[in-house]
Amino acid sequence: MPRTALYWDERCFWHAGAHYAGTLPVGGFVQPQPDGLPDSPETKRRFLNLCHVSGIVADLSLRGAGPATDTDLARVHTADYLSEFKRVSDAGGGEIGLRTPFGPGGYEIAKHSAGLAKAAILDVARGDIQNAYALSRPPGHHCTADWANGFCLLNNIAIGIEAARAEGLAQRIAVVDWDVHHGNGTEAIFWNDPDVLTVSLHQERNYPLDTGAPDATGGPNAPGTNVNIPLPQGSGHAAILDAFDRIVLPRLATFKPDLIIVACGFDAAAPDPLSATLATSETFRLMTHGIMGAADSLCGGKLVLVHEGGYSEVYVPFCGHATLEELSGSRVHVPDPILATYTARQPGARFDAFAKGWVDDLVAKLVPE
Ligand SMILES: [Zn+2]
Repeated sequence: MPRTALYWDERCFWHAGAHYAGTLPVGGFVQPQPDGLPDSPETKRRFLNLCHVSGIVADLSLRGAGPATDTDLARVHTADYLSEFKRVSDAGGGEIGLRTPFGPGGYEIAKHSAGLAKAAILDVARGDIQNAYALSRPPGHHCTADWANGFCLLNNIAIGIEAARAEGLAQRIAVVDWDVHHGNGTEAIFWNDPDVLTVSLHQERNYPLDTGAPDATGGPNAPGTNVNIPLPQGSGHAAILDAFDRIVLPRLATFKPDLIIVACGFDAAAPDPLSATLATSETFRLMTHGIMGAADSLCGGKLVLVHEGGYSEVYVPFCGHATLEELSGSRVHVPDPILATYTARQPGARFDAFAKGWVDDLVAKLVPE
């Protein structure tokens, strides 16, 4: 019996953006680009393809899931937001919020994406499977209750959490967001909720520009339940792991969740076009190892990873595979063909004094004695 389930749906790869070149709308002096928006299906599809080619799928429980229901969506998003999203989708697609284009049927595809996260969370919470990875697309962590942004149209993790709570399957839930961008949507949705800890490890002032500071620690009913860990450009593998070990893990231990969910973006990786933090596949492997240890000691190993960003078509599959190797305990190993290059060339390999001092300051601020 595999200990890890991988949830996916081909329809999530059919989510289509409008005319973008990188993160810029096409027009004026911005030339159209064949691949358009960075959130292309290829990063996700190539990750899944590599799992088939390596054979690790034999050690996973490969699962589909139904779409999230209207009731599921209404627990998190406002009625006005959902009806506007559906109206634009039914009219052939377009764009709502900021940088969130979608094609015809985008609303239904987003419900499928949320459905994967929901099924993964419910199945793990029920004890039906030890841990899970939901290959959701479109992503969710930037989406608030009433505003789409940063390619995110529904907050997949929040929808899954509220479904689990509605069924009485979990009480205290921790979300660790290691996508390189700030998990502003998840933070906002659970800002005043004492039973959900939201932790975001991100590049400082990357996206959104105006959120993610360490002094944002939770609303009046939930002080200390939001933890922002902004890291500087060029941090690299060692600084990211240092922050993870010295801030994320202790805060999880203090909170004592009965389920841990990771907003799993791979866009902190060195070649990613939307970041400059220089992580490698080993960074994700070791963070996965660390969070599994936390889940084992705190909540019977109940752990769900939900896919967020990651925009290097070449490198996301290697980061994702390393993550699944750890998660599943599979002996199938895919060597990362560019790891040695990144490790040798990136400043992060040296964990220089600047990054070390930066993390020391954050530890002093964010981890009570
Ligand atoms: Zn991201």
